[in-house]
Amino acid sequence: KLRHLVAGNWKMNGSRSMAAALIAELKTQCLSGGGGGVSADLLVCPPFPYLIHASEFLMGSNIALGAQDCAPQESGAHTGDVSAAMLKDCGCSHVILGHSERRTDHGESSAQVAAKAKAAQGAGLIAIVCVGETDSQRDAGETLKVVESQIVNSIPAGSTTANLVVAYEPVWAIGTGKTPTAGDVAAVHAQIRKLLVAGVKGGEAVRILYGGSVKPSNAAELMAVPEVNGALVGGASLKAADFLGIAAAC
Ligand code: 13P
Repeated sequence: KLRHLVAGNWKMNGSRSMAAALIAELKTQCLSGGGGGVSADLLVCPPFPYLIHASEFLMGSNIALGAQDCAPQESGAHTGDVSAAMLKDCGCSHVILGHSERRTDHGESSAQVAAKAKAAQGAGLIAIVCVGETDSQRDAGETLKVVESQIVNSIPAGSTTANLVVAYEPVWAIGTGKTPTAGDVAAVHAQIRKLLVAGVKGGEAVRILYGGSVKPSNAAELMAVPEVNGALVGGASLKAADFLGIAAAC
């Protein structure tokens, strides 16, 4: 059984003081063993401006740091973009790529996500590649087809257990309080596992996270689903008690 990874995607939330307070609380709880017996790996992904502070705040803990996007290019005339090497330089080990909010707000295609993931892996980061169907795609019975196309087209060649994590986030479950049934999650994760085993070196050991309205009260059920190897948490990652509550349910 793979060790679970619980990743907090702060999205565009927080401030310098909030980052300091939240990370301090996570650290204290984890170090004091008061995290409810957390055996999962933990990762926090604050907005870009706070990464450098967060990496300092996280020193002396085993909580990892990640970003929420990176550029596909290595460097150069790309105003407003941030390279994977810069993230690595700021202390990041992970970067979330192809989140549905980026696919929607910034029109990111799977091909662009793959280019970003390749850049991230090239800089020594672990790419967390996100996939998931919309409400209407789900209603049309296209979930597995959509997820398969996103997986095949968003994961670059050269991905391995060491540089790839996949996150399944049904778009309709993000920030809505709605979650798929354990059976639905199991079906999608089984499909993703099959694709990873077929197409990625060490694909049987690539972690597949579930994301979308994960909270302490539903975490135990979702984290027990076969082929679910952790959670990508949005709203509930902004409160230390909720984030650690989810981790404790793994
Ligand atoms: P919520 O946990 O707020 O539903 O967000 C999920 C998500 O998009 C994490 O990336």
